[in-house]
Amino acid sequence: MAFLKHYTWLLGLTAFAVWQMPSILTWPLSTQKLLPWLPYVIAGLGVFVGIFLNRLQPILILLSLVCFNIGMQYFIPAGSTGLTAVTLFPVLSILLPLNLLIWLLLPERGIHDKVYVLFQLVLLVGQVYLVYWVMENLPLTYWQWISQPIEIEGFNVSKTAFITMVTVWLILMLRNALLNQPKVLDRTVVFVLFLMGFGLNSFYQFGAIAWMSSFAATMILLSLIFDAHHIAYTDQLTGLNGRRALLESFLGLGRKYSISMMDIDHFKSFNDTYGHDVGDAVLRTVAFELSLISTGHVYRYGGEEFTIVFKGKQAEQVKPALEAVRKAIADRVLSVQKQGQQVETKVTVSFGLAERNDQFKKPEEVMKAADEALYAAKKAGRNRVVVYGESSKAPPKSTKPARKAVKTQKS
Ligand code: GH3
Ligand code: MG
Ligand code: MG
Repeated sequence: MAFLKHYTWLLGLTAFAVWQMPSILTWPLSTQKLLPWLPYVIAGLGVFVGIFLNRLQPILILLSLVCFNIGMQYFIPAGSTGLTAVTLFPVLSILLPLNLLIWLLLPERGIHDKVYVLFQLVLLVGQVYLVYWVMENLPLTYWQWISQPIEIEGFNVSKTAFITMVTVWLILMLRNALLNQPKVLDRTVVFVLFLMGFGLNSFYQFGAIAWMSSFAATMILLSLIFDAHHIAYTDQLTGLNGRRALLESFLGLGRKYSISMMDIDHFKSFNDTYGHDVGDAVLRTVAFELSLISTGHVYRYGGEEFTIVFKGKQAEQVKPALEAVRKAIADRVLSVQKQGQQVETKVTVSFGLAERNDQFKKPEEVMKAADEALYAAKKAGRNRVVVYGESSKAPPKSTKPARKAVKTQKS
């Protein structure tokens, strides 16, 4: 669902940029004069944030935008039809989408690997020389091919540039569809390419390129921040929200809510029996089962402990959901590796549950009560849900935890 949120602002900014582009011409002249500087300022900010957050990909994308803007601004003033314009314009409009693609495809290794950073910078700056060489030496027939106009009404970019842009755009879309968890940056570049394509196609309008580049750079800057936020708030192993997000959720809980603490039973001996990697896989499975609880929000509290926050719900209302997921986990047959053999096993989990009331008014207090209930659940024999204050003597409803590995087949 988070990706819908990102598409909303990306679409919003893109639509605004396209909609307002023609209005640049109605601005006061003094403001118009400032516009060409804007992309450099925003890209500069982005590079600064990128260095701070140790992200090379967005930095290189921003630097490509800067180089592109310099090329367009100083060598092809808007509306110019001179020889440089005719030749440089198609070259730059082919190089820009290719740059976006290259910087995304090369793996992100941060800014501290000096050799890698140097390699990428050489790749970027080398293009300036390439453009210069091409301008000087390319035979006429190639020029004709590169700058051949596209025969579609309303399009001004060359046929080659158009084909390059559409191809790169499709590759980026396909890549996002195939990636397990595309970053906000991956999604952003799809919109950046669209904006830049739109700006390029309108390059005869004063300020079009600078305007679009400013929006593009803003989007990259925002994606940097959102990706960093995601990393800080998400648990890498399970993909669930982490403890930081849990504490933040406390801020808007209101006066009616329940909190459950969950802990996997005998997980230490599970790790000892099957190894840490299998333990990790089981943690993911348990996290997945928990995430199916539709009434609550699940967080990985730490280790093999999870917290579920039910906003606007009392303990009795949510207990059936916890019972259902407890049973689903206990019933689930896990096929795991043990000493090279495929074996089947199961795990069980215990829940403690507490609600906000006159005794526990703060989320931290409710959570502590839930933790005490969890302790009671463990003491009472595990594989059960215990509500704070309720008796925990009742036996579990079904399914005994199967601690023993059952040999099934050789792998
Ligand atoms: P109990 O039923 O009383 O909870 O017994 P337990 O063995 O689960 O006890 P405890 O909750 O104290 O054990 C925590 C264990 O969870 C210790 C560690 O081996 C395991 N664990 C914690 N975090 C991770 C993790 O990220 N991956 C794996 N594989 N194991 C973890
Ligand atoms: Mg524990
Ligand atoms: Mg445990």
